[in-house]
Amino acid sequence: MKKLFFLLITVFTIQTSMAQTTYILCGKLVDTASGKISSKKTIFVKENKIIAVKDGYIMPKGGNLIDLRDKVVMPGLIDFHVHIEQEFYRNTRLNKYILNEADIAFNSVGFAKTTLLKGFTTVRDLGGTGVNISIRNAINKGKIPGPRVFTAGKSLATTGGHADPTNGSSRVLIGNPGPKEGVVNSVDDAKKAVRQRYKNGADCVKITATGGVLSVAKSGDNPQFTLEEVKAICDTAKDYGMHVAAHAHGDEGMQRAVIGGVKTIEHGTYMSEKTMELMKKYDAYLVPTITAGKEVEEKAEIPGFYPDIVVPKALAVGPQIQGTFAKAYKKGVGIAFGTDAGVFKHGNNGKEFGFMVAAGMPAMEALQSATITNAKLLKMENEIGQIKKGFFADIIAVEDNPLDNINTMENVVFVMKDGVVYKK
Ligand SMILES: [Zn+2]
Repeated sequence: MKKLFFLLITVFTIQTSMAQTTYILCGKLVDTASGKISSKKTIFVKENKIIAVKDGYIMPKGGNLIDLRDKVVMPGLIDFHVHIEQEFYRNTRLNKYILNEADIAFNSVGFAKTTLLKGFTTVRDLGGTGVNISIRNAINKGKIPGPRVFTAGKSLATTGGHADPTNGSSRVLIGNPGPKEGVVNSVDDAKKAVRQRYKNGADCVKITATGGVLSVAKSGDNPQFTLEEVKAICDTAKDYGMHVAAHAHGDEGMQRAVIGGVKTIEHGTYMSEKTMELMKKYDAYLVPTITAGKEVEEKAEIPGFYPDIVVPKALAVGPQIQGTFAKAYKKGVGIAFGTDAGVFKHGNNGKEFGFMVAAGMPAMEALQSATITNAKLLKMENEIGQIKKGFFADIIAVEDNPLDNINTMENVVFVMKDGVVYKK
């Protein structure tokens, strides 16, 4: 009898603690929908959802109280371009010969945690070996801390293209990768590669529409897919409920990507005015990745950091990216916040805000691009990107008003994801 009573008490305690409400007192609260910042608000959180947002400070007895009265509170940030599996350093290109999947997985655990603790509660992962799919699953199951991940799995390229996995290998190792490995050279290959990504568990598709900086290959900007191949990829992806992201530096490849139906252009370095108009017409978004541009430019100056073939590409592309972003923004191209973290150290994602503002985008619009815009592109505009009743409790805080000091975004001091506090 005593035992049963004890058991009942335990069950009761667990249930009440699960149902307990958390009250977050916010000195300032950023409303990403209206673009306004208000003072003295209380957010009510129950389990993993926001159940109310009320004026003034409400401190009822019982429940958990989180006091952020001297902080600026906002929704968790969404980075639309990261590589959760990797981080570039000298000789990173050798990793594919020396790391096993388990090594990649253990590295990723740290990268995912760092990203979350810096306030990024959701990311779109644009390419790795496929371990990224397992990372997403482990995070979703609560096995490891990390952001919500939407992943492309392995990127798609053409033979010798930017994401061909055996670029720069000796002839013994170069092999003949095909659709399964993410290499396509025809319309049929394209369909098969997309379906394979779906089968593997990817959420979206990434193509490398032009040459890129860090691949061991000569061109950083040539077109690498035919229009027919891009169309086949986008049409097939649509059948499976996936959107397509295109890495692109050169203008011709970018145009084919936009006309072919991709949703986002990553980097966009040499984008012409004509392409900017096309992007508006086709409702495609630019993911600026200015932080990555700055990083490759800086690292290319260090002798031996990158292979010789990469250095001239890094020095040409790096300095262009911020200027192109400025022009595209001014022309009215939609901007989806994304950094290319992994090309630089995970956790430095917040630097992108400063680069965007320096290029002429108002701070509030930069915050909106990292919240409501990306939520909309993920078709989660009613679940993330705002602090609003019914939304997931993805809530962060910074010290200063970002409209006065945008660099405060590099120093996130409070992180809640799905109602769980990870940093305070
Ligand atoms: Zn990338």
